[in-house]
Amino acid sequence: MDTNSGKILVCGAGGFIGGHLVADLLKLGYTDIRAVDQKPFKEWYQQAHEVENLRLDLQDKSACERASRDVRTVYNLAADMGGMGFIENNRALCMLSVLINTHLLMAAQKFNVDRFFYASSACVYAAEKQVTADVVALKEADAYPAMPEDGYGWEKLFSERMCRHFREDFGIATRMARYHNVYGPFGTYDGGREKAPAAICRKVIQAKLSGKREIEIWGDGSQTRSFMYIDDCVKGTQDILASDLEEPINLGSNELVTINQLVDIVEEIGGVKLKRTYNLKAPKGVRGRNSDNTLIRKYLGWEPSTKLRDGLEKTYRWIYDQMNSAGADTTMPVLGV
Ligand code: NAD
Repeated sequence: MDTNSGKILVCGAGGFIGGHLVADLLKLGYTDIRAVDQKPFKEWYQQAHEVENLRLDLQDKSACERASRDVRTVYNLAADMGGMGFIENNRALCMLSVLINTHLLMAAQKFNVDRFFYASSACVYAAEKQVTADVVALKEADAYPAMPEDGYGWEKLFSERMCRHFREDFGIATRMARYHNVYGPFGTYDGGREKAPAAICRKVIQAKLSGKREIEIWGDGSQTRSFMYIDDCVKGTQDILASDLEEPINLGSNELVTINQLVDIVEEIGGVKLKRTYNLKAPKGVRGRNSDNTLIRKYLGWEPSTKLRDGLEKTYRWIYDQMNSAGADTTMPVLGV
């Protein structure tokens, strides 16, 4: 896309990924940006004052029309979501995000939007393909026959189909990425919607600051995942939007770790060693999941490659500063101490 290619709408701009996307678009020279979220502005993780910021509830059709007027490109990153603790206990809320994507697609059609990006998720994948920790990475075709994560995953799969049919029937160039566990600074790290990397950073920091050298881990710690650093997510999102890829594609790292290994890395960054307890009753999601990146390598000649250790260090540092911003000692620990 060239930087004069028309107004860009970022939905969910007050959230984690949307906030980073707006910041990156500005860095790349795009100036005609409309940023929309339902949250009060003071709760946005990042707010760029040089763009048009609107507070709208995008489940509402007229709000989607307000947001989409004069727009050439839509990034839909707005959804009611969180980590496993949230999505396993709020299935109806997660499914209601279908209203956002549906009304946005209808508005995009009405206002002749050129390109439309939808943020889907690895939660669309069939649960039966994710029952062991020793995983075979998930290929795009593994989403069918469909048996996704209940609630959140079904909404994502349905919305992918809506995007597909709006492309086939109405000619909107819809693009879809299936994100695999995104993490980084300027995101949720407490309150119940946080995901594993941020939650573990927070718990390690809490243990460090309180002197109570213990950590509770959800599950038995041997479940496996891959985690994608936010910079890779933002680049991949823009590249997928600009591509000819009409089918949903994985956007994730394939650096597989157990949750115990994730804790090892964060402990090392924090310079502490904690006594681990395992909460086997807590929500833990599928047993193992990794991203097969064959297609993204083939079509984009690129894949997310930020090392988990490097991304976690930046994330830990940001969360540490947030938690410690009351004015106590904000200096980072010396590594390995
Ligand atoms: P986030 O919760 O930080 O951001 C989502 C934003 O959408 C929030 O700021 C929220 O206020 C906004 N929103 C929710 N309902 C809205 C509404 N009705 N109207 C307007 N705004 C509304 O989440 P995120 O991590 O930035 O995720 C962005 C997208 O990526 C979501 O669609 C999510 O499902 C998808 N995704 C994220 C991950 C991940 O690991 N973060 C993984 C897979 C998919």
